[in-house]
Amino acid sequence: MCSSATCYLCIIMRSSFDVAKCSFGCLFGRGIYTSGTSSKSDTYVTQVASSKYRAMLMTRVLAGNAIKFTAPDPTLVSAPPGYEAIRGVPGSGLLYDELIVYDNDQVRPFYLVIYDVDT
Ligand SMILES: [Zn+2]
Repeated sequence: MCSSATCYLCIIMRSSFDVAKCSFGCLFGRGIYTSGTSSKSDTYVTQVASSKYRAMLMTRVLAGNAIKFTAPDPTLVSAPPGYEAIRGVPGSGLLYDELIVYDNDQVRPFYLVIYDVDT
């Protein structure tokens, strides 16, 4: 791991996810976003150096009682009462599945996947 203050991959691997560092304005508010569709996650990969390889984290997410949303709500800061997560389902505004949690303890990095963008 590197020590760069802008390498979020290494920061997450060292200390896990931190919802306080998530930005507002995302489709389902300020939360930690994951997806079971790796091609969707790949669209969020930011390369900090020229390489034919990319890195992605596979995570374990404790979704608990997840509520399905088909329409975005960028004002969210938590799941609605009685729920622990939001499951964004493909439909209006979404092309791929998303699972959003709002508590740091609901998600942990589990595997680091390095892949070749040319294959
Ligand atoms: Zn790094």
